[in-house]
Amino acid sequence: MTVYLVGAGPGDPALLTVRGAELLRRAEVVVYDRLSARELLDLAPAGALRLDVGKQPGGGPSTPQEEINALLVEHGLAGRTVVRLKGGDPYVFARGAEEAAALAAAGVDYEVVPGITSAVAVPAAAGIPVTLRYSSTSLTVVTGHEDPTKDHTDVDWEALARLRGTLVILMGVAHLPEITRRLLAGGLPPDTPAAAVRWGTRPDQETVRATLGTLHEHRLRAPATIVVGEVARQRLDWFERRPLFGRRVVVTRTRAQAGVLSARLRELGAAVEEVPVIRVEDPVDGGAALARAVAAVGSYDWVVLTSPNGAARFCAGLRDGRDLAGVRLAAIGPGTAQVLAEHHLVADLVPERYVAEGLLEAFADPPGTGGRVLLARAAVARDVLPEGLRSRGWGVDVVPAYRTVPVELDEADVRRIAASDVVTFTSSSTVEHLVAAVGPDAVPPVVACIGPVTAATARELGLAVTVEAPVHTVDGLVDALVGHLAPEPS
Ligand code: SAH
Repeated sequence: MTVYLVGAGPGDPALLTVRGAELLRRAEVVVYDRLSARELLDLAPAGALRLDVGKQPGGGPSTPQEEINALLVEHGLAGRTVVRLKGGDPYVFARGAEEAAALAAAGVDYEVVPGITSAVAVPAAAGIPVTLRYSSTSLTVVTGHEDPTKDHTDVDWEALARLRGTLVILMGVAHLPEITRRLLAGGLPPDTPAAAVRWGTRPDQETVRATLGTLHEHRLRAPATIVVGEVARQRLDWFERRPLFGRRVVVTRTRAQAGVLSARLRELGAAVEEVPVIRVEDPVDGGAALARAVAAVGSYDWVVLTSPNGAARFCAGLRDGRDLAGVRLAAIGPGTAQVLAEHHLVADLVPERYVAEGLLEAFADPPGTGGRVLLARAAVARDVLPEGLRSRGWGVDVVPAYRTVPVELDEADVRRIAASDVVTFTSSSTVEHLVAAVGPDAVPPVVACIGPVTAATARELGLAVTVEAPVHTVDGLVDALVGHLAPEPS
């Protein structure tokens, strides 16, 4: 088959090309190293072989280039679809050319998929455009990896100094003092603006702004992109100004439901740690009671759904939407109503307050002849609704639509939680299982809950609740968190 040399982009996994994503989705082998985002590996099929040829964290040995070439040739000759993921662009200081040449020599088909290079994307994320009309008329991308003190060097730093354009130096941290000396010797003024950006486009991006004369005095660490030139004076720093930039936020809800919350948090700049502490499973009866109730759904006046999971399972059991003719639907909040909407069902009732008490308040009394309510929900839930409805004269059938079970956390999960600034809870069960797993003292300092019920559970379990969302939706939770961590100046 073909070996694809795919640019993984500068760090943010969302900056992969469409072609790159398409190829990853059907890769049989993925060969990667530390500069490509780990999240990209999740795009590959579950059964794909994932081979790490990069440096281990902490500076362990990386696989020699000849071995990487041999690996690509071997899997290519074996007829597999191979994606060689390379940070940024595969040909920008990345030895993609050597890999392509090795494949060509071995008669293996290959294709090169360009990537967004860190040379332009990283400065942009740090607020620095790489060219600027009138003041920066050239852009030179140069490697700082060569030892500038050795007798022969291919980089003519003095000539670059005379260009007066933008210099983007990759792999330059280790040799920066010597590079600086030679740029100064070439006549570049010491007060020329300069910046170093570590882990650009990622949530842990760090920017140091200085001048050519002083940048090397800062404690810089690889991998960093260094920019020297007038452009480095620019501060178009939209990226680091996002309200949750620099915050590490744990998302505890199920893997299937985490997406929307995680995406919103990331857009606002947060580093998101998805640690699902619960999983949704069939109720103990395997869903038999729900199936029976759904089969007789026409005999109810109302179906009440108190969570997106309950709504999803109820809808999945419906044979035909027409079975609901004459039956009204109540959803506890917009998230639950949204699930109904996805099945072309409109909720007749969504209360103003998205809690059981709010739903109860909004619910009408039964007609004189009495009425029946089907409540499809989690196996374990509060009694507020069924008891309240019954006391109002409704006949209520409560059926378990699903149950939440704890997910076993491993050591890495516990470490990720401990290293975070914020934890988000979207249900009581997420609080219970997280606290059971790590104990109340290992929970991150900022505790954000979707509403009063979840917050009450958190308090009962010994947590200090920092944020309780006044609007009990994912958006409401995120807004409340932003309001707390990054209030708009009044
Ligand atoms: N092919 C890559 C560059 C590989 S050389 C590309 O096109 O981006 C590796 C160097 O790139 C690093 O030492 C660093 O200087 C730079 N680099 C890569 N990713 C980076 C990131 N997220 N932030 C800052 N610099 C990065």
